[in-house]
Amino acid sequence: MAKAKSNTLKLKFDSARNYAPAPESKSAAKINARYDLFINGKFEKPASKKYFATINPATEEKLSEVADANAADVDKAVKAARNAYGKTWKKMPGKERAKYIYRIARMIQERAREFSVIETLDGGKPIRESRDFDVPTAANHFFYYAGWADKLEYAFPNRNAQPLGVAGQIIPWNFPLLMAAWKIAPALATGNTVVLKPAENTPLTALKLADIFQEAELPPGVVNIITGAGATGAAIVNHAGVDKIAFTGSTDVGKIIQKAIAGTGKKATLELGGKAANIIFEDAAIDQAVEGVVNGIFFNQGHVCCAGSRLYVQESVYKEVVRKLKDRLETMIVGDPLDKNTDIGAINSKEQLAIINKYLKIGQAEGAEMYQSSAAIPSKGFFCRPTIFTNVAQSNRIAQEEIFGPVLTIQSFRTDDEVIEKANNTPYGLSAGVWTDKGSKIFNLTTKLRAGVVWANTFNQFDPTSPFGGYKESGYGREGGLHGLYGYVRF
Ligand code: NAP
Ligand code: MG
Repeated sequence: MAKAKSNTLKLKFDSARNYAPAPESKSAAKINARYDLFINGKFEKPASKKYFATINPATEEKLSEVADANAADVDKAVKAARNAYGKTWKKMPGKERAKYIYRIARMIQERAREFSVIETLDGGKPIRESRDFDVPTAANHFFYYAGWADKLEYAFPNRNAQPLGVAGQIIPWNFPLLMAAWKIAPALATGNTVVLKPAENTPLTALKLADIFQEAELPPGVVNIITGAGATGAAIVNHAGVDKIAFTGSTDVGKIIQKAIAGTGKKATLELGGKAANIIFEDAAIDQAVEGVVNGIFFNQGHVCCAGSRLYVQESVYKEVVRKLKDRLETMIVGDPLDKNTDIGAINSKEQLAIINKYLKIGQAEGAEMYQSSAAIPSKGFFCRPTIFTNVAQSNRIAQEEIFGPVLTIQSFRTDDEVIEKANNTPYGLSAGVWTDKGSKIFNLTTKLRAGVVWANTFNQFDPTSPFGGYKESGYGREGGLHGLYGYVRF
């Protein structure tokens, strides 16, 4: 009898592991060839008469074209929002506003598949993430803030909270639908009306949201969706009829906005960049910590403001952590974002890929050691293998500047004081992570790390009830939770 060939047990992860493709169907995504501006409850042609394309970054194919709003279009949208504010929304009892917000939440849930597929097509993120994170969390934000709409007197006891008026909201391309939800839900709950501009690269789910506003019979003008590039955003910021600017994006543009509104009386919340420290102590559950680090930096291709992009590992476990991370990197699948097996999808744009590649060169020139997984990547589209840098100095640009891609720097440390100093040695202060078995260490670090959010033995956890926002150059103001209401009321 022929002996079965013995399979030697491979302890190393097998980089050639193959899964059968499991693509999500595109049929759920109904995308028009062209989208106009959503003003006063209707889609209207732009005064600019201009349109620009939005592409699928995984294939470089054009998905649709959207209107490029100019200052006249912005003016029309702001006037519609002002009119809706004075005539309808401000006067409506909170319990009536809540019904609309609940309806929007439910409709997002009902159309979750369509939203997920469009989010993945337009932005390049893995379908697993848009399906299991972006879309459900967006719906949850609307549910959560619907609950506050008729309870503002309990949110602000004895303070008579009043809405601000028209909120101009400008969002980035990394979580397009979710950022729209973070902005729109608290504004509506508190009785404000909205002019929202999604990012040039990812306008489609915000425009789909406009469909929902129509179906939900949200009064015309309460939310207006204006597409365009940076100039459109600037026109919103500079419009005299806007009472509040809610901005999420880069620190550079945040500073421009701050200068533009200085002295105008406009209120602002700025959610800007980050360079979060993720800290592993020797007493941590190492395998769990390694998973947390992987989630912290490779989630959404590292296009996450609170990404754990600087890893600090206590010296005694440094070698073990680096070895385990390299092994884990080899198992990550990079490729078709619509495939349910994919861990790392497409980089959002050609421009962002060029920025990431520039930093990979800078890191090597600075003397750091680069390690990339051997994952196969598609020949078309914008892709980057998961990358880690060791032998990194605190002063290196790759350890100081936000790369906004799947790139992790790793440094070692010996004492608590040393790692606190290194972790805080950054212009940013959005988030941080601590991995340890000791509650006392968690409390010590959470009080000393200058970051808006500090996760302990987990990372990248979001909930509508928790406030989120930064210190230092990561901005000011909070979104989420009761704190998220403050940015939209005056007393
Ligand atoms: P960005 O270039 O600052 O763009 C953000 C938004 O502002 C986009 O809609 C953009 O339009 C618009 N914009 C550009 N120039 C403007 C101007 N002069 N005036 C008004 N609006 C203008 O940022 P990004 O590259 O899209 O996004 C990545 C950045 O966002 C990262 O730094 C990341 O850390 C940060 N972010 C922060 C958070 C947070 O909560 N703290 C969350 C997510 C992302 P176009 O895209 O059409 O040019
Ligand atoms: Mg796109």
